[in-house]
Amino acid sequence: MDPHSPAEPDAGRTHFEDALADVRAAAKPLPALAVPLDDALGLHLAEDVVAEIPLQPFDNSAMDGYAVRSEDLADATSTDPVVLDLVGESRAGHPAERTVGPGQTIAISTGAMLPEGADAIVPVEDSRPVDGGIEILLAPSPGSFVRRRGEDVAVGAMVLHRGERLGVAALGVLAGLGLEAVSCRRRPTVSVVTTGDELVPPGEPLSPAGIHDSNSTMLAALIAAADAALRSRQVVGDELGATIAALEAGLDADVLIVCGGVSVGQHDHVKEAMAQLGVERHFWRIGLKPGGPTFFGQRGGTLVFGLPGNPASTFATFTLLVAPALLALAGGSTAGRRIPGVLGSPYRKTTSRLEAIRCGLEPTATGWRATPLPNQASHFLTSILDGDCLALLPGDAGRVFDAGERVELEIFAGPERSRNRIAS
Ligand code: AMP
Ligand code: MG
Repeated sequence: MDPHSPAEPDAGRTHFEDALADVRAAAKPLPALAVPLDDALGLHLAEDVVAEIPLQPFDNSAMDGYAVRSEDLADATSTDPVVLDLVGESRAGHPAERTVGPGQTIAISTGAMLPEGADAIVPVEDSRPVDGGIEILLAPSPGSFVRRRGEDVAVGAMVLHRGERLGVAALGVLAGLGLEAVSCRRRPTVSVVTTGDELVPPGEPLSPAGIHDSNSTMLAALIAAADAALRSRQVVGDELGATIAALEAGLDADVLIVCGGVSVGQHDHVKEAMAQLGVERHFWRIGLKPGGPTFFGQRGGTLVFGLPGNPASTFATFTLLVAPALLALAGGSTAGRRIPGVLGSPYRKTTSRLEAIRCGLEPTATGWRATPLPNQASHFLTSILDGDCLALLPGDAGRVFDAGERVELEIFAGPERSRNRIAS
């Protein structure tokens, strides 16, 4: 091959899809344990969940009103009402002590048990109290405003499947079925080490050659958005001994993320520190832009990522490699993370790596349209802010993707900006 061909700088890298497959293979589901529902948001089920009780638990009223026998009211109208004897009350949590006989009714509240004998509910609004009883102003059909036992979930129904993420609705259903805990995979723990002599913590004045450390904050937020638990967070300068000490401390988590210092600069000590700590290297340098110098390795059960420090590179490599690893550790399915869409404007590739370009996303009648943002260089923080997804562009350097061409998209964790835009 011509050493000066555009593809040459990309040679020797691990192909991105191979790197992702390697990460997924290494990320085995963590052990299962019984987790109280209040602690289970974002965890993944280790077992299918089959309903042992029905929802609704018994036949009950959908309205405040009167439990009636529909056959008694076949001729009732607002001009020619039928009067029923009021013989009792069924309140939420307190069933009636009597049954409803011919010509009788029982007052009933929403969620209260349907008394025996009744087959319909007449809402309060369609009735009128009169001397000696209740006037009913319409003819209810049988079953009207009655909520049936098991109509939401029948006994024996499989409501949730192994691997499913427990979101708000799933937790509501599990509580409704009377479960106080469920068998879930443990939440992955993550340590973060951010490197760089130039880094200044937010809140402190900048030094002359400093830049505020944006990645530590962003990574902590990405970890939370990925349903994982931040175990520790350290910042170290570009010094081998300090880097080794920080990495050693971070290796007690399920995942260690080291940010910056992973490239080929004279002051990049992360790879040497990994080697000295016995981290077994799976790959370093991958066919991805941004994110070329990404490192992945393992020590014991800990997965170790070295992510490049430019914020857009950190963000992209977390999204494309670390997030799938966290999902696999958590016992979730990593299939189907990418969604199809079309490009909103043309884009010319400059490398033969997979280019992950930040795009704004809009719905169209035929699907999602992803329009590349202007500033794709890896130091631009604001094109993450303005973006909603990464469009993944494979193929050779120089390849032009046309507007309207189909591409795969990976949605950002928490695209807050677009939601705010929609709301305003
Ligand atoms: P590195 O990956 O260490 O070579 O850093 C690449 C670029 O990203 C440099 O311009 C760094 O100053 C910048 N950078 C590295 N870490 C951070 C960070 N935590 N926050 C903001 N910028 C960073
Ligand atoms: Mg650095």
